[in-house]
Amino acid sequence: MALDADGFPVTRSAAGVVRAAAGVRELAVLDARVSGCRACPRLVAWREEVARVKRASFRDEDYWGRPVPGLGPADARIAVVGLAPAAHGGNRTGRVFTGDRSGDWIFAALWRAGLASQPTSTHIGDGLELTGVRVAAAVRCAPPDNAPTPQERDTCSPWLARELALLPDLRVIVVLGGFGWTALWPVLAAAGYRLPRPRPVFGHGVEVDLEGPRGRLTLLGSYHVSQQNTFTGRLTEPMLDAVLARATELAGTFARE
Ligand code: SF4
Repeated sequence: MALDADGFPVTRSAAGVVRAAAGVRELAVLDARVSGCRACPRLVAWREEVARVKRASFRDEDYWGRPVPGLGPADARIAVVGLAPAAHGGNRTGRVFTGDRSGDWIFAALWRAGLASQPTSTHIGDGLELTGVRVAAAVRCAPPDNAPTPQERDTCSPWLARELALLPDLRVIVVLGGFGWTALWPVLAAAGYRLPRPRPVFGHGVEVDLEGPRGRLTLLGSYHVSQQNTFTGRLTEPMLDAVLARATELAGTFARE
């Protein structure tokens, strides 16, 4: 694969994403390939424009301006899947959910659940480490108005599919919001999981058990940690804590089997 100026392998099409994701055997390689992806012209233009113009309060920072890879160890039993990076959050810092209010919520909750080393996530190198959980987004580039198109979602899905496949101990996926819920079904079908028909409707606290090639996998729905939900009280800290407690309970249950 050709490398860009920063040394990341470049992918330029939906078919290229399929090929580039398919052969990856390590998360670090996947993260590098994700970081060099340019398959969605609208999102590439937007993320780079945001990185060039910047928000006034961050004018002295170098924005990442690239797709944002996942975070967390390969032995994670729990995955948390969100929507997409925020323009001045992950698109600025280069780390998923890092540098915005949504990230403040999810990492504080992961810390309360015993899955993060600290309750804050401000920048790469801030000391944050995750244990037992991998955090990723269904779409890796910041979209205008936080709204990727269905085509962009589908183009990006091989990255998520490969990432989940590289977590051999995965037992629980916490899905933040209806977009990620919808995005996951084709990913899981391609991975060989038997899916219920009709598909279960997304909701906070909804729990779905799936059987697949690596045994049981449980999906847990949670309202997204967007400010739209947290400012209005639609999602509260106790509500998010309850979902993560259930996730750790399920993951721990499987650990003892
Ligand atoms: S959204 Fe996904 S597929 Fe599209 S350019 Fe970004 S990383 Fe590539």
